[in-house]
Amino acid sequence: MSRAWNFSAGPAALPMDVLQRAQAELLDWNGARASVMEVSHRGKAFMEMAARAESDLRELLAVPSDYKVLFLQGGATQHFAQVPMNLAADGQRADYIVNGHWGEKAVAEGAFYADTRVAASSKADGYASIPARAGWDLDPKAAYVHVTTNETIHGVEMHGIPGVGNVPLVADMSSDILSHPLDVSKFGLIYAGAQKNIGPSGLVVMIVREGLLERRPRPLPKIFRYAEHAAADSMLNTPNTWGWYLAGLTFQWLKQQGGLAEMGRRNQAKADLLYAAIDDSGGYYRNRVVPAARSRMNVIFNLHDPALEPVFVAGAAEAGLLALKGHRALGGIRASLYNAVPIDAVRALRDFMAGFAKAHG
Ligand SMILES: *Cc1c(COP(=O)(O)O)cnc(C)c1O
Repeated sequence: MSRAWNFSAGPAALPMDVLQRAQAELLDWNGARASVMEVSHRGKAFMEMAARAESDLRELLAVPSDYKVLFLQGGATQHFAQVPMNLAADGQRADYIVNGHWGEKAVAEGAFYADTRVAASSKADGYASIPARAGWDLDPKAAYVHVTTNETIHGVEMHGIPGVGNVPLVADMSSDILSHPLDVSKFGLIYAGAQKNIGPSGLVVMIVREGLLERRPRPLPKIFRYAEHAAADSMLNTPNTWGWYLAGLTFQWLKQQGGLAEMGRRNQAKADLLYAAIDDSGGYYRNRVVPAARSRMNVIFNLHDPALEPVFVAGAAEAGLLALKGHRALGGIRASLYNAVPIDAVRALRDFMAGFAKAHG
């Protein structure tokens, strides 16, 4: 049995080295004569592994010392609600820049705890762009400004982080965290579901400025308070031990590969290759996103004849290119090019696209 090239949007491909190491260590982790899933999270070995994962992540992203790194649960979706729970008073404004599906969800879920307001949106063009900074209608008294740096379904990405003054910037980075170097100090809070670029689903990585944890806008059960999780080193209750472990292996792998500068170069090269295959196809393949907002992580495209799209997806799967069907909200094709997807996979896709266009011209 051989593995296929996997373009899944999430849960997504993991690095081969990480999977092989996890496999090798599964039955006897770290001399424990048990797997990492079967030992106490409060034991010395697990605590050391957890601390190393955190310090590797801090090194990769050069996280400043006045930020906490949290390993949480609930998916990004839970934090759409939990962020305003922790940062905004009842009825207080929170500004949202919406450039796709996930931003819309964040606004709707956040509305249970704050006056979530769409301060800028690219809905009018079907989320084919990022709203220009000049048009953002920001409230200087807002609890925070929320952005989605990469929209996984609509295939748009913010290239460069716009300034928002003194209001803390909150970012859902579920599908682009660790894909290129990042200046964490520009953000108040970053959160990411792990299943795109870090590890398995069920784990959420959060990076939050300590000052923000002092906000106490309402009484909350401990389990919903980020400050409690931070005080307990993310072990307020039993964490997702398997997810934390795999995330740690991914961080080690990223360091071995040359860190985020190298990942940024590779991801740019992969995206350039695929967008060129689309743009140079004479209209056979089409991407509707404005070039300046094209995502390096999720490349969406259509065929000139939509009736051919299911044929394309099925033929690609047969050729060992998996999970290319676009999200059901948009249709079309989507190729996700996260860190674990090597450039050889993108070359194989490009060659398949050229062959398909010839065969179904
Ligand atoms: C996948 C994704 C989500 C949803 O993540 P869950 O873990 O399913 O809650 C949210 N935001 C973005 C940008 C995503 O890519």
